[in-house]
Formats: sequence, structure tokens, C-alpha cells
Amino acid sequence: MTTDEKYIQSSSPSKIEGVRGSMTETTASSPSKIEGARGSMTETTVSSPSKIEGGRGSMTEAKSIDERYMRRALQLARQGGGHASPNPMVGAVVVHRGKIIGEGFHRCCGQGHAEVNAIASVRDHTLLSESTIYVTLEPCSHYGKTPPCAKLLIEKNIKRVVVGTLDPFEKVSGRGVQMLREAGVEVEVGILEQQCRDLNRRFFTAHTTGMPWVMLKWAQSSDGFLADENGAVQFSTPLTRALMHRERSMVDAIVVGANTVKIDNPSLTTRHWSGNSPLRVVLDKNLSMPSDCKLIADGGKTLIYNAIKNETKGSLEWVKLNTIEPQSWLRDLYRRGITSVMVEGGANVLQQMLDANAWNELRIEISPATLRKGIKAPVVDLSHTIGEEIDGNLIVRETR
Ligand SMILES: [Zn+2]
Repeated sequence: MTTDEKYIQSSSPSKIEGVRGSMTETTASSPSKIEGARGSMTETTVSSPSKIEGGRGSMTEAKSIDERYMRRALQLARQGGGHASPNPMVGAVVVHRGKIIGEGFHRCCGQGHAEVNAIASVRDHTLLSESTIYVTLEPCSHYGKTPPCAKLLIEKNIKRVVVGTLDPFEKVSGRGVQMLREAGVEVEVGILEQQCRDLNRRFFTAHTTGMPWVMLKWAQSSDGFLADENGAVQFSTPLTRALMHRERSMVDAIVVGANTVKIDNPSLTTRHWSGNSPLRVVLDKNLSMPSDCKLIADGGKTLIYNAIKNETKGSLEWVKLNTIEPQSWLRDLYRRGITSVMVEGGANVLQQMLDANAWNELRIEISPATLRKGIKAPVVDLSHTIGEEIDGNLIVRETR
């Protein structure tokens, strides 16, 4: 590949980002202007009593500049949402003397990391020795699907690295920073740290607990029923259904109980949204699921946790567990690289998850319809949550 070709390839995404960048930069600049003003205000007030405090003012200013570029890196990182998983969303910005000369984010698992893409978008690599790179997550230090980013930054002779937050993996946390420092690179850690952690909350939760992030999802009538006595009732509208499928595309797996399969025969795909279709998981202790149900017959990938057998057949896998308690299958999913799951029902499975306190997020769609009798929805305290009304339905969300 010639240099020109290489440039054209790497420049096209950054051009798009550049357009978005100038749009977003306006928004990003206003808070930093305020902070800048705050910095100079402090400086004016404190300049007379002592010079030391005056110095603190310029430190505040430097921090607000770092935060400004880290905010941009966060914006870039979010563009990887839904595709980066099971990897985290990461964004990076290369700055040379107050000017952004490169940007990148992690687009897709198995492809270049944010730092690689940001460096590739820089036109003049001789500027790197006088540049700072802002990365939302600590640069990696190990050989995975790609060589370590810390090594790349050292090879590129980058002057300074500003890191949002350290890697949550205990075994590698701090190693990337150490590698850079040992090579003489100036490193700063913890700029907008909370935002950088929140961005990948699911990822951080999974790797610190050893279990995927769990979202419990259901739809119910205004009087608290999931379904009538005969089974499924469609509470969602075409729009809320599309939005729900969008949420599906953002998780690694969808989980249902065997009863839901028997009653609703769902396909659990993301057909109403153009995104990834997550792994389908059924909790079927006694293998009571009919063999002609969609999850078994449609050729898609399905994992079946049960108490009877281990078997793999085509795209289907049966996994025997001693107990079908939430913790046991959640740990097994984590071992398989699943970092987030959406549990879609039914009533028993949802109640079991709530009782075991095995959840991180609730998403409940409440229809104005009333059923008066049927299958009761789980009862949860929603007094602190704020709902969003879409198509007449109320979408209530709680994260903890
Ligand atoms: Zn990396």
C-alpha cells in the first residue's frame, strides 16, 4: 500500500468526524469558556495575596483545557456504541499546540483501537513528538487482536498522554501507564474520570463483578399485568418496539425462561432495528421447550441452560448447570465473553432476578391499557424514577 492510499483510507473517517467535530466543538467550547473565565477570575482575585495561588489558577486553566479535549474524546467514543462490545467504547484526540490534528474511536471489536485510528488520521507524524493524545481509557499494554497501543504511542514518540480512567481489568490496570512512563512519556491520569467510567458502565461492572451487566425489561398494563390469562398482549407501539430493538442491539445476550418460549414463541432478533442480533439464551431446567419453537428451529444461535445435558448441535448449545440460579448462569455467560444481558421474561424469571438482587437496570414500558386480570407484573418501587412518554406509553428506567 502506498502512503497516499494509506492516507486516503485513514482520512475518510476522520473527515466525517471533522464535520461532526466542528458541530460539536461549538457545544464543547461553551462550558470550557466558562471554566476558562473561572480560571482567570480566580487568578485576578488571588494574584495580589500570593504568587503561589496565582500558579494554582493557571493549573486550573490547564486542567480545563485537558477536560475540553477529553470531552471531545468522549463524544468520539460514543460513536462506537453498539458495535464495540464486548470491547469498551474508547475515543482519542491528538492535539498539537492547541489544535486537533487527529481523532479516532474504537469502531468495532477486532478492528483498530481508538489510539491507532487517531494516530492514523494525523497527516504529519513529525508533529507527534510535540503532541498530546487524550484517551478516554488507559492504552492497552498487551498483545490481543492488535499490538499494544502503549507501544505504538512510544514508537510514535508522542510527548504526553492524558488518560480518562485506568483499565478495569485487575491484571492489566496501570500497566499501560507504567509502560509509557518507563519510556519517558509524560502521563496524566483521571481527567473526567467519572464520565469516562460511566461511558462504559456496563463494561466496568462486568469486569469488576465477573458477571454481565443485567437489564430487566418488561411491558405491562397500567393496572400491573404482563399478559392476560391466555398469554401475550402487545403493549408496545411500532415506535416503542423499534426503540426496544435498538436496546436489544446494544446488549450481548437476551435471556428468557422456557415458559415464555412455550407461550409466546419469540424469535428475539433485532428485526425492527439495523443492529447486532445478540446471543439468545433460554433458561430451561427440564428441557421442556418444544423442538419446533423459533429459537431452536430458525437456525440462529441459541444457548440453553438446563439441568440435564451438555450438547452442541449446529447453532444450538445446551449447557448443563447444577443450579439455574441467576448467579450460576450469569457467571457462565461472563466466561463466554458476554458483558451485558437483557432479561425479557417472563414473570417468574424477572421475579427471580429481582429477588436475587441480580440486576443493574430496569426498563419498564407501561401502557395506558388495563387488563383487570391475568399474569401479574413484578412489583418494584418506581417512586424515584422519571418516565418518558412515547406514543402514549410510559417508558420508565432505573439504573443503579
Ligand atoms: Zn489498544
